[in-house]
Amino acid sequence: MISKIIKEDLIQATKDEIESVNDIVIVSHISPDGDAIGSSLALANFLNTLEKNVTVIVPTAYPDYFRWMPGATDILVYADQKEQSDEKIKNTELIFALDFNVLKRIGDMAFVVADAAAKKILVDHHIEPGNFANVVISYPEMTSTAEMVFRLICRMGYFTEMTKECAECIFVGLMTDTGSFSFNSNQSEVYSIVSELIKKGVDKDEVHRRVYDNYSENRFRLLGYMLSNKLKMYPEYGAALMCLTKEELDRFNYQPGDIEGFVNMPLSIKGVVFTALFKEDGEKIRMSFRSQGNVPVNEFASEYFTGGGHKNAAGGQLFVSMEEAVRVFEEKLPTLEQYMKVEHDRQMSI
Ligand code: MN
Repeated sequence: MISKIIKEDLIQATKDEIESVNDIVIVSHISPDGDAIGSSLALANFLNTLEKNVTVIVPTAYPDYFRWMPGATDILVYADQKEQSDEKIKNTELIFALDFNVLKRIGDMAFVVADAAAKKILVDHHIEPGNFANVVISYPEMTSTAEMVFRLICRMGYFTEMTKECAECIFVGLMTDTGSFSFNSNQSEVYSIVSELIKKGVDKDEVHRRVYDNYSENRFRLLGYMLSNKLKMYPEYGAALMCLTKEELDRFNYQPGDIEGFVNMPLSIKGVVFTALFKEDGEKIRMSFRSQGNVPVNEFASEYFTGGGHKNAAGGQLFVSMEEAVRVFEEKLPTLEQYMKVEHDRQMSI
């Protein structure tokens, strides 16, 4: 039995909105990951079974290793198909905003989505949801937006109608947002959901292979280069930093998704409790932060790097040079010292 976490009035409001329209647009965040694509395609597939006319639009390109997903090739990429996307967003009757909390997470699409006449329904698991939507379904304790889509479909009374394709997309979101069930996945209900997805026909081992054994040779070599040449350790803190400049990324023919997961890797070293990955992106440096235990990287990101996120996974950005970004990082690192020490000592004692 799976418990009823999402409030009944939100379920009813969502159902009413869906029933009253024919044309629906689903939008998700910049640099879409497995949960952005998975939850969006799962919802699109479900709405298609209700014979709705659905378009999924993402701000920037998604990784190649998600192209096999049911419905992926119909996704509009705003950066490449702006006119067509603007037209869709302006004229649609209902907009679902999935896997992001505030409009700046959808980049250049933010203005047209904000101005659209359509009602908006936010479904998301990041903290501090913005107030741009008419219906806000925000549960930060969920593993993924895909899990929320599963719960929504079930609670609206359509579990029987859920297709294998829809279940596959939900599984991708669940799997990728929990690092293949290695973090943020201790809730037993997650496995009740996985069990239901398998009953729907999902071959979870095959889905895992399609996502994680489907990378380019360039990505693999970039990873090797980064780990051997670009890993800076701060053993006194149990911290690690890796930086990749545009020139280095170009050398390995960087494609969207190629550094997905890199930031987590130093956490596999005994005693490392905080890792950061800096990537040069045009005029700015984009940062990803990961931690273990009680090291609050969301506070670190929001305090010094105009970002935010979850306690153990956050991001930020600064419009500075790589050298300056590293300088700020090293200057502010001691602010996390007390948290890092507790977790570092705990790991070293195992
Ligand atoms: Mn997510």
